[in-house]
Amino acid sequence: MTVGVVGAGITGLALTHYLRERDVDVITFDAREAAGGVIQSQQRDGHVVELGPQRMRATPGIRELAGAAGVEDDIVTASEGSLFVYSRGRLREAPTDVKPFLRTDLLSWPEKLRFLAEPLTRDAQPQESVADVFSRKFGRAAYERFVGPLYGGLYASDPSEMPAKFALEGLMRREQEAGSLLSAFRQRVGSGEKSPAASFPDGLQTLPEALADTYADSVHLDEPVTAIGQQRAGYSLETPDSEYDVDQVVVTTPADVAADLLDGVAENTDALAELTYNPLALVYLAADGLPSGLGYQVAYDEDLHTLGVSFNGAMFDRNGLCTVFLGGMHDPEILTQSDDQLDEIATTEFERATGYEAEVVDIVRRDRWFPAYDQTWWGLDDVTTPDGMHLATNYTARMGIPSRVREARELSERLAESVK
Ligand SMILES: Cc1cc2nc3c(=O)[nH]c(=O)nc-3n(C[C@H](O)[C@H](O)[C@H](O)COP(=O)(O)OP(=O)(O)OC[C@H]3O[C@@H](n4cnc5c(N)ncnc54)[C@H](O)[C@@H]3O)c2cc1C
Repeated sequence: MTVGVVGAGITGLALTHYLRERDVDVITFDAREAAGGVIQSQQRDGHVVELGPQRMRATPGIRELAGAAGVEDDIVTASEGSLFVYSRGRLREAPTDVKPFLRTDLLSWPEKLRFLAEPLTRDAQPQESVADVFSRKFGRAAYERFVGPLYGGLYASDPSEMPAKFALEGLMRREQEAGSLLSAFRQRVGSGEKSPAASFPDGLQTLPEALADTYADSVHLDEPVTAIGQQRAGYSLETPDSEYDVDQVVVTTPADVAADLLDGVAENTDALAELTYNPLALVYLAADGLPSGLGYQVAYDEDLHTLGVSFNGAMFDRNGLCTVFLGGMHDPEILTQSDDQLDEIATTEFERATGYEAEVVDIVRRDRWFPAYDQTWWGLDDVTTPDGMHLATNYTARMGIPSRVREARELSERLAESVK
């Protein structure tokens, strides 16, 4: 059996690895010359800047994948560091565990008791918005000051637009097992914290590049798939100069590309084209100093444009470099502002939050990189693919790099099983 994989981002490359490990023939295509998809690390004025993800969790799955690509020893990890929330005029440690929760002044004692009463509340319902679930279960103050910003920040989305069914799927499953969302959340954060934030000296793109090199005989870069045809048995993948017959096909591209490729082969592909992505501007700052920690998100009752800031300099010893995220679902219009205006907003707000001065290194804008997990996700329920055709990427399951690798591994197991 041969599996055709469309896209050599981390999902497509991890899938390539796991299929090869299971002795399944695989041929993987990417439209770009470079591997990695949205994982793009570049040099700017002597700084490593990340155009996409800023860090990944060095989970056992990530380490195993890096080992297979020969770069496990190059992984650099952040020393234990807090995540902060900017609320009422200063940075405060996000209470992601019991001790920080007890000492935090983000909530008053009555608000803390309200938060801790969560196990007494009704289970999260798939039709509710994430904002309604969190406000109902933890109280409005906790939602606005840290639960909403920390969770919504993962997607640059507004939790009031995110149906729980899609955005909280895993957490709701764990709620059933653990008895409450709080226990489920603590289990998840707890297990996540055992795997530190990680990168490579030259940035995250080291991992997909090493995977593409390792499997160079399977990976065709700079060769876009232009059409997928269904045959009596299997599929044909057209590229500008060739056509390839495969038995099964996995599409890992952004949703608009998938909608075009699947048109006429799968059903209700319009829903793919209609998925919302959140626009983002990333402003890279070289700061005079950085608090030690991972970064911060901004509480919803603050009047800042900044969504959050990643302290890459503090995490990975990168000379005070940090990445300011602007835009998202709360503030998409900000992308129409000039570079000078974004520079002014990012540096002024950064200084207000941290007390450190900073200079802009670079600014990038991205329209369709960040899946919003909003109401448009209901349309995915109607998309049906024929046997042997699979969708696997950051709008079909969770976005984080470890989750992408996990989905690739699980799919490879199912594909290998189908050969037997
Ligand atoms: C700004 C940003 C910040 C993020 N921050 C984090 C973070 O800090 N930590 C974390 O764990 N995750 C983070 N994520 C999420 C994570 O990076 C992504 O979910 C993940 O990298 C997506 O990988 P993918 O392979 O599924 O998709 P993609 O990376 O989108 O890969 C899809 C690939 O398909 C290719 N393609 C498109 N059209 C065609 C075609 N016609 N033929 C062939 N190939 C085609 C594209 O070139 C691309 O390489 C972030 C994402 C973004 C955008």
